[in-house]
Amino acid sequence: MTLSIAQMKTDDDILRNIAKPVQNISSEDIQNLIDRLMFTCEKAKGMGIAAPQIFQSKQIFIMSSHPNERYPDAPVMVPVAVINPKIIWQSHDFEKDWEGCLSVPDIRGLVLRSRTINVTYTNRYDEKIEAEYHGFLARLFQHEYDHLKGILFIDKVLSEADIITEKEYQNVMMKRII
Ligand SMILES: [Zn+2]
Repeated sequence: MTLSIAQMKTDDDILRNIAKPVQNISSEDIQNLIDRLMFTCEKAKGMGIAAPQIFQSKQIFIMSSHPNERYPDAPVMVPVAVINPKIIWQSHDFEKDWEGCLSVPDIRGLVLRSRTINVTYTNRYDEKIEAEYHGFLARLFQHEYDHLKGILFIDKVLSEADIITEKEYQNVMMKRII
């Protein structure tokens, strides 16, 4: 399996598209695509990845939160495939925090997101799920959901002062830990 990940600008034709709903979740094609997304997310050390990032314009993403050096406070979860998601409610209580993206390498930006969201989606076993997410998981869900609408986090950064390089970001995180 390859690790080819669509990159901003170069692959805008796919990244900026609106992804299509998925019909046959139990089909081999879709199950293989989910496996590829899980594999790529793990190998690229991402917290999540959306199908357009591996050149498939379909409404699927993976959430795979776990603490690492970039996000030491991220909660641990079993990776989950989120299919045909909808955000049915979002709080007007917002929070600004750092985000990065496998499709926007070496850059971090501060993005304002709702602190709490209520969502529905279908999982890979074709079960309908309703969930409420807070904090980091709400942020992760909103980031991946945006990918299905052709939106990248960088579009939501309000000021140039809120963009830093990966190296600067690591310095910020070091200061936070110390
Ligand atoms: Zn992303």
